[in-house]
Amino acid sequence: MAKYRGPVCRLCRREGEKLFLKGSRCMTEKCAIERRSYPPGQHGQGRPRTSDYSLQLREKQKLRRIYGLQERQFRSVFERAERQSGVTGDALLRLLECRLDNVAYRLGFAASRKQARQIVSHGHLTLNGKKITVAGALVKAGDVIEVRERSRNLVAIQSALEAVDGRGVPEWLELDKGAFKGTVRALPAKEHIALPVNEQMVVELYSR
Ligand code: SF4
Repeated sequence: MAKYRGPVCRLCRREGEKLFLKGSRCMTEKCAIERRSYPPGQHGQGRPRTSDYSLQLREKQKLRRIYGLQERQFRSVFERAERQSGVTGDALLRLLECRLDNVAYRLGFAASRKQARQIVSHGHLTLNGKKITVAGALVKAGDVIEVRERSRNLVAIQSALEAVDGRGVPEWLELDKGAFKGTVRALPAKEHIALPVNEQMVVELYSR
């Protein structure tokens, strides 16, 4: 599947807000949004589009970029959300949030979701005691995620764990920092997923 290999700060500038794609740099004044908060490109400082479609599209792109998914992957998560009972937008957020790469990021095993995906795919984590390399695997209540013993000295993991106190771990997860271990207390409710996205507009876009 094709990956986006361009500058990631450009994605935040396109959406007009911080999507926190680059770990600790996002908290510094080097953040591109702090310096150039207008969209990239020749027409970046022109009049923004305000049609329903373009607003819905921006919300979808924002959510897709926050979780680092390609369109096809994102669409398939959406279709899965549609098949679940309850509000589709809530189910969409929950499915995205329960991805293993996101959980690893939320627990502080990685500085960004992109790094978390790499940590998972390189086999540095276990899920319920078994090595796992599928970044999109979904966690459920009671699941235990651990950094494998031989990976605990990795600088990337150690420095991410040092920085997690500043960011905080969401209440639906529990971190035992000393044991490099996280537990899923319960599935996240919508209010636990504080993102600058109107997920209802994503549902409207795909329902056109
Ligand atoms: Fe986005 Fe982080 Fe780049 Fe700022 S530093 S523009 S938040 S990726």
